[in-house]
Amino acid sequence: MPLEIRQFPCLSDNYGYLIRDRASGEVAAVDAPDAPAILAELAASGWKRLDLILNTHWHPDHTQAAGAVREQTGCKIVGPEESARVIALDQVLADGEQVDLGETRFDVIHTPGHTLGHIVFIDARGGEAFVGDTLFALGCGRLFEGTPEQMFDSLSRLSDLPDETRIWCAHEYTAANARFALSLDEPDGERRGALEAHARDIFALREAGHPTVPTMLGRERQLNPFLRAPDAAAFATLRAAKDQFRG
Ligand code: ZN
Ligand code: FE
Repeated sequence: MPLEIRQFPCLSDNYGYLIRDRASGEVAAVDAPDAPAILAELAASGWKRLDLILNTHWHPDHTQAAGAVREQTGCKIVGPEESARVIALDQVLADGEQVDLGETRFDVIHTPGHTLGHIVFIDARGGEAFVGDTLFALGCGRLFEGTPEQMFDSLSRLSDLPDETRIWCAHEYTAANARFALSLDEPDGERRGALEAHARDIFALREAGHPTVPTMLGRERQLNPFLRAPDAAAFATLRAAKDQFRG
């Protein structure tokens, strides 16, 4: 049975997620940006329990509410070793391990680059990927800790997921990413047309106050310039250009 997923904006541009395994009724939060927002969403859901926080990386906008949410709900917190510096983890997760929410199994993939310990959670059966700050719609995370080579490899691994995988990013950065993507040379006219059409949809959604997340891996593979970089050197150049871009 597929997951039920509730997405809610919080802080300045984060997305919080509450997810429920339908078979068991178990509920998890993906990351812990904002305690009042998470608890309000939980109350609105009627799900009445929170079993787990799945943490992707140590940054405050992904961990700062974990303690307060655990106090209110009694949930467990699982995440990468690096997060143990800032929150008490019940279980440390490493690449290749799995974590279960009821009958839903998440594969843990280590995706260093944005931070050195960043992990993502893949529900392969349901086709859902919770990617934190590694992959964004038409973009990717900034390299705060890792090297371009590490991030290139991390994105390559995510790129291997099936096209129909839904990509749940932790931030709404898509409009700015679209402006950057449009600023790049695209000799392939068909791809250029697809990007322009997709960018128009994104700007219209944002104008109307709607989310542009989730995105689909197949579309990102076609249009996301960071997934199209042929090698780590090209990726590094692109990432540096985005860091400077004021579009
Ligand atoms: Zn981050
Ligand atoms: Fe973040």
